[in-house]
Amino acid sequence: MIESPLLKQLQGYIDGRWVGADGGDTLAVTNPANGETLAEVPNMGAAEAQRAIAAASDARFPLTSLDQRREWLEAIARALAENREELGRILTLEHGKPLKEGQGEIDYAAGFFSYCAKHVDELASRELEEQPRGCRWTVHYRPAGVVALITPWNFPAGMIAKKLSAAIAADCPSVIKPSSKTPLSMIALFTLLHDAVKLPPGRVNLVMGGAGPIGDTLCEHPDVRVVSFTGSTEVGRDLIRKCAPQVKKLTLELGGNAPYIIFEDADLDAAAENLIGNKFRGGGQTCVCANRILVQKGAAAAFAEKLSARVAGMTVGDGMREGVDIGPLIDRNGYNKVRRHVTDAVDKGAELVTGEIPPELHRDWGGFFPPTVLRGATPEMACWREETFGPLVPLVEFDDEEQAIELANETEFGLASYLFTGDAARAERVITRLEFAHVGHNTGSGPTPEAPFGGMKQSGYGREGGLEGLFEFIEPQTVPRGA
Ligand code: NAP
Repeated sequence: MIESPLLKQLQGYIDGRWVGADGGDTLAVTNPANGETLAEVPNMGAAEAQRAIAAASDARFPLTSLDQRREWLEAIARALAENREELGRILTLEHGKPLKEGQGEIDYAAGFFSYCAKHVDELASRELEEQPRGCRWTVHYRPAGVVALITPWNFPAGMIAKKLSAAIAADCPSVIKPSSKTPLSMIALFTLLHDAVKLPPGRVNLVMGGAGPIGDTLCEHPDVRVVSFTGSTEVGRDLIRKCAPQVKKLTLELGGNAPYIIFEDADLDAAAENLIGNKFRGGGQTCVCANRILVQKGAAAAFAEKLSARVAGMTVGDGMREGVDIGPLIDRNGYNKVRRHVTDAVDKGAELVTGEIPPELHRDWGGFFPPTVLRGATPEMACWREETFGPLVPLVEFDDEEQAIELANETEFGLASYLFTGDAARAERVITRLEFAHVGHNTGSGPTPEAPFGGMKQSGYGREGGLEGLFEFIEPQTVPRGA
């Protein structure tokens, strides 16, 4: 069982108090590196979600000044920075990613609170310069009301930071539901919100457990004005249906199927190096991970060699161990999906270039998947159509620019994409035509607190981060005043 000063209370949090599930039910949190139970946390449901919404609703007024919001945001960023090592440890134990990545995620999370603190004045009311219709016009950036924040397991701290920083900046009380696979990082964050930041009761509430009953309550309750969800497209679609009767606003950060395009004129070493950082972060379980690697024919053999040499030097193992590059996948379902993608591709003619793990890491319950490179992947394969969410690199060859663009766009997703070329004019032509909200040019870099991030097509709508993200939970209100 996990021991931590940030997990003294293994409970939910409603109206400023730590609380268990009504029936005393719990659910187990598993360490994906060894299958052991780390903790039992409350398995809450609709009744607890209702009470959390009521507490948040009561906390909406009086409105909070911009100065107070800035103070809270700065205090949260500080608390995260001061506790980065312990928070990173908790995160690694429940998620599996290497410890340095776990701690890096805490820095990333703190960045969203700092950014919102720095720019919260953008939400000050403003007077229009013009005086249409003979009136003086004021635009107020009003809080939307109670917001529901639902987060996935793959970034247990990063994803809530994006949402909660914007909610606090907008002055919206929140009800938060973390993934049942990684609730401990959220409980640790709430410990800091309660002990160090001392947010007033009702401003932030934590319910965990049954996704169905909690999710339905958040979608159906009229006091919840925005549901902000990060997770799979399948669940996103379900939430759209459930929010439709009340025309409830949704922010949806959904799945991806990122193309990573390498032209013959690219620096192949840089393309390989960046792919390692991009693809294997979180064991390949990120929405912005390259999923389809498109290499121009003339560079295919050389690139496969450069990549394989780097992959061969990577160490798979328990993320808590020094020197580990890739931790276990989150659970057996995750493992089976990657396995299916590899088998399907090989059955359909792909060549396995590299992909072996030491026998001692084979586990019935888990978890550990080798970084795997395939050559000769094609659009007929499951690894091309579906988000693999694991350390698999399928290399697909293309002839020319036109074909690369066509192949890259051949997906219902539109989240992240990457392009490596030394030709600036080509880069501009290709970027303009890629139907993805994020296009890395000669970099595998993903989102950052300073820039807006979100999806096109079925990767969702709304933006998090950047100035655009500050407005996600805002309702502009106009007040014309006559003479
Ligand atoms: P998921 O299964 O959709 O779950 C996400 C969250 O939704 C969890 O908290 C889950 O709770 C909850 N949930 C499940 N069913 C629900 C329902 N019917 N109503 C309300 N909430 C429900 O996704 P995941 O497996 O955790 O995350 C992986 C996915 O997230 C990938 O597709 C990835 O691409 C996407 N993602 C996207 C972004 C982005 O920025 N676009 C970022 C990160 C991840 P339980 O855990 O309790 O089931």
